Amino acid sequence: MLKIYNSMTQEKEIFQPLQPNKINIYVCGPTVYDFCHIGNGRTYAAFDLIIRYLRWRDYDVTYVRNITDIDDKIIKRANENNESFEAVVERFTTAMHDDFTHLGLLSPNHEPRATEYVPHIIQLIEKLIHNNSAYVATNGDVYYDVRQFKNYGCLSHHNIDQLESGARVEINDVKRDPLDFVLWKLAKPGEPSWESPWGAGRPGWHIECSAMSTSIFGDQFDLHGGGKDLIFPHHENEIAQSESATQKKFVSIWMHAGYLQIEKEKMSKSLGNFFTIRDLLKNNKPEVLRYFMISSHYRSPVHYSEQALTLAHKALERFYNTLRDLPEAPPLSRSEFEKRFIAAMDDDFNTPIAFAVLFDLAHEVQRLRDKDLALAAQHGSLLKLLGSVFGILQDNPDNFLQGEDASVPVEKIEALIAARNQARADKQWAEGDRIRDELLELSIVLEDATSGTKWKRISKIK
Ligand code: AMP
Ligand code: ZN
Repeated sequence: MLKIYNSMTQEKEIFQPLQPNKINIYVCGPTVYDFCHIGNGRTYAAFDLIIRYLRWRDYDVTYVRNITDIDDKIIKRANENNESFEAVVERFTTAMHDDFTHLGLLSPNHEPRATEYVPHIIQLIEKLIHNNSAYVATNGDVYYDVRQFKNYGCLSHHNIDQLESGARVEINDVKRDPLDFVLWKLAKPGEPSWESPWGAGRPGWHIECSAMSTSIFGDQFDLHGGGKDLIFPHHENEIAQSESATQKKFVSIWMHAGYLQIEKEKMSKSLGNFFTIRDLLKNNKPEVLRYFMISSHYRSPVHYSEQALTLAHKALERFYNTLRDLPEAPPLSRSEFEKRFIAAMDDDFNTPIAFAVLFDLAHEVQRLRDKDLALAAQHGSLLKLLGSVFGILQDNPDNFLQGEDASVPVEKIEALIAARNQARADKQWAEGDRIRDELLELSIVLEDATSGTKWKRISKIK
């Protein structure tokens, strides 16, 4: 029985897909005017894990993640750089795809772009004007009329008056209400534009997601997600637009990922306190970043620090040490470990508890290793299988543990090991120990086995 927390009802609900076994999920994608930071990465990694789990549980999941490819920030960036908005969009879309591939994020089944859906957007706005839910203002822009939607505020749990006093609303005397938001914005000279019944212009941000999601899935679908900052106004506005147009319940369950924080503040472009995914990938294995982003519950905040990344690295080292040198074996079937893992994940994707199961499993592998290697190997295979649901532990253990570090190249390590072996063969024990210590200084640990000397890198807590 799968339970998912719904931001709308603020409760965990038993999830019933609209069509048996089929799940349609729409996650708001990035606005491509800059590189993605690790805060954006957190939200997409959270949904990646959720989708992987749902697929592993045999749901037929259709994952849509859009690209916001026209917006004021993109136009501003293009003007600053003296390039076209298309060039900005292409550059940062390619960069986003690169970063997401490195992090092992699954590609969405559809990746619609706002500019490809302008006819759908126009149709939806016409419907809203026809329903008296939207109006053409005196300056020619089209606005959604929030006072016409009796449930406005249902997702953020405030009524319009509370929202008005809380929100920083710009002074704009063409709106009927300060919370009214733009659906179609007329272009200023030189700005990119599309023809419409209201003149050449571009869509507002909120309308694109309503148009794209309902064009792909129909009027209603199962899950809609994003980071918590999208609850208001973006998702509140999506509900208002979509439900005014269709008179149907738009989405079954609203899901929101908690913030990635740095020094207790949300990581964001506007605060300037961000690290891009590509910068962090220079010094960290992608799997370490991924582990760091998914090991907290998706609704909880994640606290970024270098130490947190080191701890993530250490945790993965423990898993890979466990998996190292195990013989091939089928995964243990129908075990208590797997049951506990499923129970945790079925309870609103409780990854901290699911990770505790993985650690118990690793512990069991170590305990069994000397007693019953075949059974240890079956536990190890189950660990790897459950790891795959999280998109981790699929590397070759030697590869992960030896890794790459340009400052201490593999050739240097192997030369030192050969010199140590020679010293030992010559019974120069002190020299052999000196070389072992020299390697330890470089964070290389040796393990002597009958098959030869194995080595691994260890990470140091900074
Ligand atoms: P944007 O490109 O700003 O629309 O952001 C893309 C996605 O990243 C949205 O779902 C945001 O909610 C999410 N996001 C932005 N900053 C953070 C953060 N610090 N932590 C978690 N999610 C974030
Ligand atoms: Zn959206």
